[in-house]
Amino acid sequence: MPLLSRLAEATDERPGAIRVQDRSLSWVELRRAATAVADDLRGAARVAVPATASLETVVGVVGGLLAGAAVVPVPPDAGPMERDHILRDSGAEVLLAAPGTRKAHSPPLVPLDLARRSDTSHPEPDPAATALILYTSGTTGAPKGAMLSRRAVAACLDGLADAWAWTPDDVLVHGLPLFHVHGLVLGVLGPLRVGSRLRHVGRPHPERYAAAGGSLYFGVPTIWSRIAAQPAAARALRGARLLVSGSAALPDPVFAALAGLTGHRPLERYGMTETLVTVSARADGPRRPGTVGVPLPGVHTRVRDEHGDPLPADGAAMGELQVRGGTLFDGYLNRPDADAAGRTADGWFRTGDVATVDPDGVHRIVGRAATDLIKSGGYRIGAGEVEDALLAHPGVREAAVVGTPHPDLGQQVTAYVVGDGVAEAELIDFVARHLSAHKRPRQVRLVGALPRNAMGKVQKTLLTEA
Ligand code: ATP
Ligand code: MG
Repeated sequence: MPLLSRLAEATDERPGAIRVQDRSLSWVELRRAATAVADDLRGAARVAVPATASLETVVGVVGGLLAGAAVVPVPPDAGPMERDHILRDSGAEVLLAAPGTRKAHSPPLVPLDLARRSDTSHPEPDPAATALILYTSGTTGAPKGAMLSRRAVAACLDGLADAWAWTPDDVLVHGLPLFHVHGLVLGVLGPLRVGSRLRHVGRPHPERYAAAGGSLYFGVPTIWSRIAAQPAAARALRGARLLVSGSAALPDPVFAALAGLTGHRPLERYGMTETLVTVSARADGPRRPGTVGVPLPGVHTRVRDEHGDPLPADGAAMGELQVRGGTLFDGYLNRPDADAAGRTADGWFRTGDVATVDPDGVHRIVGRAATDLIKSGGYRIGAGEVEDALLAHPGVREAAVVGTPHPDLGQQVTAYVVGDGVAEAELIDFVARHLSAHKRPRQVRLVGALPRNAMGKVQKTLLTEA
């Protein structure tokens, strides 16, 4: 089924079905406003859209897709260098934006005006055509542009609808940025594909989530952690159907607090810009803390050691997670070096993430091979396990664990902690009491804040460079 066929066929008005902050459109209004945008694009192959949390962004993205263009969302708060990089690297021919947005290096502007309506019929694009050029989050280096086909986006959303029993009766609530897979593909194109309502609350504030009255909630771990810290907001989510977490690991203490307060065990899923979501817990399956579920329909995974040899699904053997299937991207833009490094000789995509698989097929993400797998004195230690142990201490608000050079051990466990009145020695003892001795931090650095990107992910490479 073509990517936007449900929108194309929508006749029912469903007033206010697609809401962003305080403005909304019915399905038919959205289709007609987006068609007016598509009329203006006149064959542009790549269209940039400043991706503010607004209804304009939804109309601009859908307009670009109806026109068959590849849509390039530009983070609204990107600095001039990042913005220029994305505009140049993507080769966007036009910028779809409110009048007055044009800056030095912008391509020509096509104005985005929500009041216009059109019923032109645009031909259905090839499913192999690029739907989106999405830039990776930049957690480990400069963001890379990933080309995602219409077919891959549709396959991912259909897989998620199946895994989460997502139906037109659902009301999706989130406040995620609209320039990554999570907020845009799952959070905007998801409801359009499935036919559910959308309430985008602008920013992910616990009170806004609590007041939105949805059935399905999306969030990154930092949002869930803030909600778990506000019991009144968390309790307001008792009436929901499903709370979904992704983009980074959900710490076990946050899982436990949310489950206790909301009555729902959060559902975790795993993905990347390059692969879309590939692995997810199912609405009708197990949701164990620290696990991300099973491959979506049509996705295959395998775990390999550093020699490329297979590892058993015994819940313990850690290796690189590799994936293949219908949700994968068609390569990076202008980065043949990264493309080549990202595939195995037999065509599997190398995620760079380390995982284990339980005997029932449920996956567990240990972390990134580059920053989260610490090799200390012959042991391999997953940073996340130590972070969870630290977060279980009542004085610890945030924790990030990395490996730093050590003369005998190779690497030592170093923890960066944001806390309230905690001392280094006390935290080292605390971890030593909860985990095997070799996993305890040798060094704890108390800091005011952790460096995080727009998705709330800790930029560990900045910690070790500092
Ligand atoms: P860059 O590639 O630019 O350094 P990034 O990898 O953070 O940034 P994304 O594509 O947005 O960019 O994020 C994908 C990564 O996020 C995955 O490779 C994985 O490390 C992490 N991730 C996503 N979901 C989960 C999850 N449920 N648990 C643990 N990690 C996750
Ligand atoms: Mg990445």
